[in-house]
Amino acid sequence: MTTTVFRNASQLVGVVAEGTSVKLGSAFRDPGVIHDGTLVVEGSHIVWVGRTRDLPALPSQAKVFDLAGKVILPGLIDGHTHLIFAGERLDEWEQRLSGQSYQAIAESGGGIMSTVRAVRQASRSKLVELARPRLERLLSFGVTTVEVKTGYGLSLKDELRCLEAIADLNASGPWELIPTFLGAHAVPTEFANDRAVYLHLLCDEMLPEIARCGLARFVDVFCETDVFDLQESKRILLRARELGFELKVHADELTPLGGAELAASVGAVSADHLLCVSDRGIEALAHSGTVATLLPGTALFLGVEFAPARRLIDSGVAVALATDCNPGTCPTEHLPLIGTLACTRMGMLPAETFNALTLHAAHSVRRGQDLGSLTPGKQADFVICNISDYRQLFYHFGINHVWQVYKRGQLVRENATSHSAGKAW
Ligand SMILES: [Zn+2]
Repeated sequence: MTTTVFRNASQLVGVVAEGTSVKLGSAFRDPGVIHDGTLVVEGSHIVWVGRTRDLPALPSQAKVFDLAGKVILPGLIDGHTHLIFAGERLDEWEQRLSGQSYQAIAESGGGIMSTVRAVRQASRSKLVELARPRLERLLSFGVTTVEVKTGYGLSLKDELRCLEAIADLNASGPWELIPTFLGAHAVPTEFANDRAVYLHLLCDEMLPEIARCGLARFVDVFCETDVFDLQESKRILLRARELGFELKVHADELTPLGGAELAASVGAVSADHLLCVSDRGIEALAHSGTVATLLPGTALFLGVEFAPARRLIDSGVAVALATDCNPGTCPTEHLPLIGTLACTRMGMLPAETFNALTLHAAHSVRRGQDLGSLTPGKQADFVICNISDYRQLFYHFGINHVWQVYKRGQLVRENATSHSAGKAW
């Protein structure tokens, strides 16, 4: 097996003790930095991390790279995306800018249903072709693992085609995709006057068939006023749990409905959005260990209040960050920029932001055992950035600091760089 040594990094960031899946309290403010560090990879896994001067003797055939003061991070993880879609929603965006609400646009046939119409007309290969450049852009920003939701098919046939497209993209790599079934993204127009029939279809036809195919790991529900209420959401989530799926919930995004409390009560792995979460909801999440996945890009794009990240963190909730990449409310793949928003608009410290994009993001997709930190024994997913201090990733914002991206020990992406380490200006 090939041994590869990456030495003389100014910082290794995200060095975490084996077995740590979340960092709460003061630990969340610790980015896990080793200065003047070296990372050793054997095959597809990390075998050693430490200070360069402590590097043990290595096999004579080891390949050695001198990083000359660059930073090494674990591969970033985007734990919430809707990147299987067709069509754009530029007109709707302009309508919103002219003062129309998201709900009003949805009621007039826009919003999610306009993307559903485009996806239903797209073949499996077309969906793959449209999603691939989005994944390429995520990879260029250092994102090596991506959760991908369906939810723009909303019929068994169309949802299955979306899951097959995710499987095709996952097989072609180099990224790893984590598939989530979101048939409960909206009640499709054809069932608008007959939502009970759609609920029956979801629980008794779609979920069992998707469980049988094994194409989704998680089931998610858009629990929201005028989408799926608390009772309907609970019914779908409990049915999914019974079929062996792990759970996620779009919770308290536009109204304080109690989605966080529901997510906690059904043992969901994560509750996502949480812009309107109540104090009781926060308490429930802290108690259940459900990850709060915050999506500040969506709040920015919708022009609404940001999620109360500080109250969540200070109450002992494990906070993760993700893009929410989708054509309606957050069209971006720039995960480091989401980190800048977390710092500047939600009061998160750079170290907290970093942990939320790595260790906690891994935990939010149940991959904490092998991803999300620079820990010997974990998969060698890591990123070399052209900066000398990891905080520059969020501070010098809107540009790409990533130089090389490694997945399972293999170089899978190299960006052209216009500046050298530590001299980002
Ligand atoms: Zn979402």
